[in-house]
Amino acid sequence: MNASLDSTIDWARVRADFPLLTRQVHGKPLIYFDSANTGQKPETVIAAVDDFYRHHNANVSRAVHALGTEATDAYEGARNKLAKFFNVRGDELVLCSGTTFALNLVAYSWALPRLQPGDAIVLTRMEHHANIVPWQLVAQRTGATIKVAELNERGELDLERLYALLTPEVKLLSLAHVSNVLGTVNPVREICREARKRGIVTVVDGSQAAPHRVLDIAAVGCDFYAITGHKMSGPTGTGALWARREHLAAMPPFIGGGEMIKEVRFEGTVFNDPPHKFEAGTPNIAGFIGLGAAVDYLSSLGMHNVEAREQALLAHATEELSKVEGLRIFGEAKEKAAVISFLVEGAHAHDLATLLDLEGVAIRSGHHCAHPLMHHFGVAATCRASLAFYNTHDEVEAFVAALRKVRKLLA
Ligand code: PLP
Repeated sequence: MNASLDSTIDWARVRADFPLLTRQVHGKPLIYFDSANTGQKPETVIAAVDDFYRHHNANVSRAVHALGTEATDAYEGARNKLAKFFNVRGDELVLCSGTTFALNLVAYSWALPRLQPGDAIVLTRMEHHANIVPWQLVAQRTGATIKVAELNERGELDLERLYALLTPEVKLLSLAHVSNVLGTVNPVREICREARKRGIVTVVDGSQAAPHRVLDIAAVGCDFYAITGHKMSGPTGTGALWARREHLAAMPPFIGGGEMIKEVRFEGTVFNDPPHKFEAGTPNIAGFIGLGAAVDYLSSLGMHNVEAREQALLAHATEELSKVEGLRIFGEAKEKAAVISFLVEGAHAHDLATLLDLEGVAIRSGHHCAHPLMHHFGVAATCRASLAFYNTHDEVEAFVAALRKVRKLLA
C-alpha cells in the first residue's frame, strides 16, 4: 500500500495481508477484537523473521564474519526505522523487550538513585499495572510517596486536579498516552509542558498510542517515552524506551553483561555509550527485524489513514453497542482510541467473553491489568472490544449480533 493513496486505501486488501485473520474458531470466522492485548502480524513481518532465521542468523555486534555483519546491520537498521517512525534519534532509543521493561528501566536507573524520603511520584487512576508496580517498588526502597491523579465522569483526566498535585516535592510524573481500558487519549503535550515548567520529569507509556496514531515523540515534550512492539504489528518481546540524551548519559546501567561494555577489568568496567549501555546480552534480533518490517508496513499505510479507519470503526461500534439494552460503556472521552470497555446488566464479563468466543469473537474480559481503575468504577471486570485497522464494519455488526444472541442465553 502507499500512503499517497490516502482515503482510497483498499482495506479489504490490507486485511488480506494478515494470514491469521482468515482462520476459523469453533467453526466460525474469527472476529479478532483483542488488538489492545496484542496485534496481529502482516505477512511481511512474518516473512522478515523467517528470512532472518533462514538466511542471516548470527549474533549482533560480535562476529566480523559476513553473517555477523548482516545481522548487526539489520538490527541497527530496525532501530533507525523505529527512530524515523517516531521522529527521534536512533542513539536515544534503547531497544528492550517492551513497555514493562522500558518503565522498569526508568524506575531502577533514573528514579531509584535519585528519589529520597519526602519526594513524590504522580501517577493516574487509569494506569496499567506496568506503570504502577515499578514505581511502588521504587517508592518502597527510597521512601518516596505516590500521588494519584483522578478522572472525571467521562473517564478523562481531571486536569485541574492533576496540576494541583504537581507540588514542589513531586519529582516524576508517569502516565499513559492512551488508556488500554477506556481508550482515553490524554493531552500529553500539555501535561508534559505543565510538568516541565515545574521541573518535574515526565514518563509517557505509549503502548496504546504507538499502534494507532501519528506519533511524534519529539513533539510530546516528555523525558521518557515507552513503546511495545507486539501491539504495533511487530513480534512479541520487542519494544523501546526513548529518553533524552542527557538522561541516558547520566543514568547507570540497569542490567549488566556483554554488549553494554567497552572494557571489563576486575578493577572496574567502562560502559558502552547509550543506547548500548542499556542493552546487555543477546537481544531479540529476529524480533526487532520483524518490528522494522512492521514499521515499514504501518508507514506504507500512513498512520493518519490507520487512525481515520479506526475512528470510523469506533464510531460504528459505539453506536451499535449503545442500542443494546442494559449495556454500559466505561469511558466516553472526547478523544478516544478504538477501545470499548463495557458490561451488560445481568451478565458476568467472563461469561460473555466465553460465549462470544464460541461465536468466533475474541474480546478480552477481566481487569485488564488496571485494578485501581476497576475499583474506581466499582467493578471487578469488564469486557473489552479493541479494534484495529484490519477489522471491518461487517465484523462490528456481526459482533453486536453475537452479543445480543449470547446475552439471551445468560438472561
Ligand atoms: N501499558 C499499557 C497501557 C498496556 O496496554 C500494556 C499492555 O497491555 C503495557 C503497558 C505492558 O506492555 P508489555 O506487556 O508489552 O510490556
